[in-house]
Amino acid sequence: MQHRILVLGAGYSGAIAAGRLARRLRREDVAITLVNAEPDFVERVRMHQLAAGQDLTPRPLGEMFAGTGVELRIAKVTGVDADRRTVSVTGTDGAAELAYDTLVYALGSAWNAQGVPGVAEHAHEIAGRPGALRLRERLARLAAGRTVLVVGGGLTGLEAATEIAEARPDLEVALAARDGLGDWLSPKGREHLRKVFGRLGITVHEHTDVARVEAGRVVTAGGGTIPAAVTVWTTGFAVHPIAKATTLEVTGTGQIAVDATMRSVSHPDVYAVGDAAMAMGPGDKPLRMSCASGAPAALQAADAIAARLTGGKLPDVPIRYFNQCISLGRGDGLIQYVTADDRAVRAALTGRLAAVYKELVCKGAAWAVANPTFGLPGRRRPVTRGRTAAGEAAKATA
Ligand SMILES: Cc1cc2nc3c(=O)[nH]c(=O)nc-3n(C[C@H](O)[C@H](O)[C@H](O)COP(=O)(O)OP(=O)(O)OC[C@H]3O[C@@H](n4cnc5c(N)ncnc54)[C@H](O)[C@@H]3O)c2cc1C
Repeated sequence: MQHRILVLGAGYSGAIAAGRLARRLRREDVAITLVNAEPDFVERVRMHQLAAGQDLTPRPLGEMFAGTGVELRIAKVTGVDADRRTVSVTGTDGAAELAYDTLVYALGSAWNAQGVPGVAEHAHEIAGRPGALRLRERLARLAAGRTVLVVGGGLTGLEAATEIAEARPDLEVALAARDGLGDWLSPKGREHLRKVFGRLGITVHEHTDVARVEAGRVVTAGGGTIPAAVTVWTTGFAVHPIAKATTLEVTGTGQIAVDATMRSVSHPDVYAVGDAAMAMGPGDKPLRMSCASGAPAALQAADAIAARLTGGKLPDVPIRYFNQCISLGRGDGLIQYVTADDRAVRAALTGRLAAVYKELVCKGAAWAVANPTFGLPGRRRPVTRGRTAAGEAAKATA
């Protein structure tokens, strides 16, 4: 009997985890199923580009996983029963229940309206493809001279504001940030950011909290208003509510609490990776929602599952940060080098070279997903534990 591994979500972390498992485990021993709502892999890191009118390379998951031994199931996950070890899904063939011996939960995240009034009704978002396409369509209809206000001074906000300003120099682009522009960056990084924002004519409202979004404007916490024909909300991500509705231990924000091997602290047969997981990183700080931490976390989870099933040594995949890669339009960028726990150091790469670097990083991440076995022969080990029935996986843990 095969050990059933169910991977939920074929984003960066789920797809990488599924591919790594296929590479590590013998096909006859395991049935690996990858469930995803959409038939394509979505490069979330390029959603600002999609919104600004660029066309992205289609990446059908069926082609990516052909011949890997991973069975792809296009369906929406509607619930997880972590005690019965089942997952409810709805697909074109209706509702179904999938049973697992080991679960990898990688459903990612969506935008975070943060309970600010008017955001859901009036603001746009670029955390996923449907939102980015809606904004793209809105921007295409927007007349010259109108204002686009990006709310959020984090990485996504910086990338969105510069991308839109570069693609549509006829619009008035503005950014509202709770802190100073690029406050967390090195002096060189901050200076470059201001230079690029100046060159692109982006107005910056620093130390500004948006308290309400209305049609045509936002209202700040101080009672002032900023005109905005289009408001783009980029103040962080929120996880899907599915995990919170289970008996899995989750944080207040609904992320699944995991240990250093990405295994749920409450259910040993469940692993969580990517934005959906709360894992501690270097400096005992939670890992940032990013591909930068989701990808190594996925490798860590897959290798830990393989080790536990085959009786091998538990891996210790180093999860640390090296840089923050920020695109500033297509021709400019900023690579801010950081400490292992993500604090900026003095060194930063800027300008055209940084844009090329960032592009290579995005291409590399997509390549890693599209080549789940890295084009190399796998070193598949026989499964020695947890092959018989649901429940064995838990007993087989170290
Ligand atoms: C504009 C933008 C720019 C970014 N830039 C960077 C960057 O430069 N560097 C960086 O490290 N990070 C960046 N990020 C963050 C990064 O994209 C996310 O942290 C990353 O995608 C998380 O990976 P994940 O695998 O956890 O989730 P995702 O990539 O979101 O994948 C989740 C998958 O689950 C599927 N799914 C969701 N719900 C269901 C369901 N109910 N049923 C079935 N399937 C479902 C989705 O379709 C998706 O395929 C950026 C994000 C955005 C929006």
